[in-house]
Amino acid sequence: MACGVRSAARCDRRALRAGLLLFLFLAGGAQAAPRPDLAALLQQADAIKLKDPERFAAIMRQVGAHDGELSARDRQYFLFLRAWRSAYDGRDANAASQLSALAANSPSVEFRFRAYAVLELLFTTERRYQTAYEYLGKSSSLLPEVTDGAARAEGLLAASELYSQVGQYDLALHAAQTVIDDNWAGQGVCTGGERRLYALYNSGRFAEFDAGVSSTIATCIRLGQLAYANELRLSLAGRDLASGRTREALALLTENYPQAKKLGYSRQIIGFDALLALAYQRSGDVSAAERFALDAAKLAIPGEYPQPLIAAYQILYQLAKQRGDASAALAYHEQYTITKIGYLNDVSARQLAYERAKQENIARKLEIQSLSRDNRLLELEHKLAAKQMEATRLYGVILTLILLFIGFWAVLTKRSQLHFKSLSRVDGLTGISNRLHFIERAEAALAYARKSGQEVSLVLFDLDHFKSINDRFGHATGDFVLKRAAALCREYLRRTDLFGRFGGEEFSVLLPGCGLEEARRQADQLRQTIGGIQAEHRGEPVTPSASFGIASTLVSGYDLARLLAHADAALYRAKRAGRDCVMAYDPADSGEVRVIAPVAPQA
Ligand code: GH3
Ligand code: MG
Ligand code: MG
Repeated sequence: MACGVRSAARCDRRALRAGLLLFLFLAGGAQAAPRPDLAALLQQADAIKLKDPERFAAIMRQVGAHDGELSARDRQYFLFLRAWRSAYDGRDANAASQLSALAANSPSVEFRFRAYAVLELLFTTERRYQTAYEYLGKSSSLLPEVTDGAARAEGLLAASELYSQVGQYDLALHAAQTVIDDNWAGQGVCTGGERRLYALYNSGRFAEFDAGVSSTIATCIRLGQLAYANELRLSLAGRDLASGRTREALALLTENYPQAKKLGYSRQIIGFDALLALAYQRSGDVSAAERFALDAAKLAIPGEYPQPLIAAYQILYQLAKQRGDASAALAYHEQYTITKIGYLNDVSARQLAYERAKQENIARKLEIQSLSRDNRLLELEHKLAAKQMEATRLYGVILTLILLFIGFWAVLTKRSQLHFKSLSRVDGLTGISNRLHFIERAEAALAYARKSGQEVSLVLFDLDHFKSINDRFGHATGDFVLKRAAALCREYLRRTDLFGRFGGEEFSVLLPGCGLEEARRQADQLRQTIGGIQAEHRGEPVTPSASFGIASTLVSGYDLARLLAHADAALYRAKRAGRDCVMAYDPADSGEVRVIAPVAPQA
């Protein structure tokens, strides 16, 4: 049962060598043939290499004759199949070096993968499980890149074989199931199916084995995969014998023995011989038992200790003892012991490999765990950094908002300051300078004019009989007249002239660069402007007028108080002269004041 299909793949060296000789003999007459399709031939050889070893050898010989005409890829293909053949022939060292060279140098991932897979099988067969594992690792790492279905199946079957050999049955089942699922060229159900059942059988999962074995045998027969079918039959017969179904086992083995012999895989034939010997011994046919046991012993391959051979030597020893043939009994017992020790060594090597593989798996798991821990740590660090970044950004936003708020607040404050400042300068009703502001600006202008020697005139005017306007038309009309008079005067005056509401219905104008005569003209214009205000109250016309008093720096000097006093005196005179006129302060003319503009009564 320990004899797997991989064994069949390389075990029948004698049969193969015979085939090779036959081929060499036959090949002699084929020299004049036209050049064949080498790529197709290689594919054909690959497809039948397990089914028909003789034909495989013949094709390889044929292709080898056209060595120089092979394409680069076909050359890789040829080298691979030749290396496979070396392994099959048992030229293990040779095969290993050819396959290693291919694995290292082939530009094709497919052939590198296949080379690793065969190396893995080779070392599994040699019971060098650690080395086999190393090649399994290499082939597995290439598997995702391999698209060729045949190559994938080959690699996975080899992996399943190694896993089963060292007792990693779950992995073996998984690899086999992948082959079944891929079912490349419709073969996976047989090849993968056989590996699956082999793993189930060896791991003692008999219920599942029993459920699938017959149908898989039928499938393999249908596909022409007789070696796989035989392998399953050996397991099935072993199961029957273990369960006391000797007759069924005998029938199954006997029926298929000729065909297995014909196929020529010696490890399988040893299996058939040993199980037949056991079955005949159980059924009491001693001579048949001895005959088959001897056949098995004859096929024994030096250095290999398959389990069925132990049974064969045991039977031979028991029968020799029963016959009283002490020396034969001793010799068979010796063979029995050697085989058993060899087998047990193999088993312990597998167990060791299994233990190591398990340890390595655990170590890898720990490594992965620590890696994932590191990853988690890194993740946390990233998250922390992101949070810190977020917080920094938030602080930035808050700071910006605070700065904006402060700026906004400063602007508001400044604006309200300016607003209040302007309020403190502006007269609320008319919008022109108030008394205080007018005095401030007038003093500055006079100081400047004093330095530059510029003449300045000051005009004061007062609306006439304003009290009676209020009284007759109401305070609102009075306000309207005040606003209108201020607006029209402002409109008329130059930008450089200063204009203010001096109090009540009294206004002041400072005219820089204006002599007395010019000031008189200006004042008279203002008088006419005020006189032109058109307003009415309940159908009754409102006719405002104003009286003007003028003083100039030429006469009064640059002192504002003095100028104001003189202008006020002139204004007083204008009132006294009948209102709605302009008077200038003139000390030289008959006392203090004289009328400089005629009375221009308004309608
Ligand atoms: P005169 O021609 O001599 O100047 O006579 P007047 O009535 O204009 O003089 P008076 O000083 O006797 O009266 C000034 C009036 O102006 C009294 C006050 O009610 C009025 N007045 C002062 N300020 C305002 C104001 O802002 N609005 C209104 N509607 N009236 C005002
Ligand atoms: Mg007045
Ligand atoms: Mg007045």
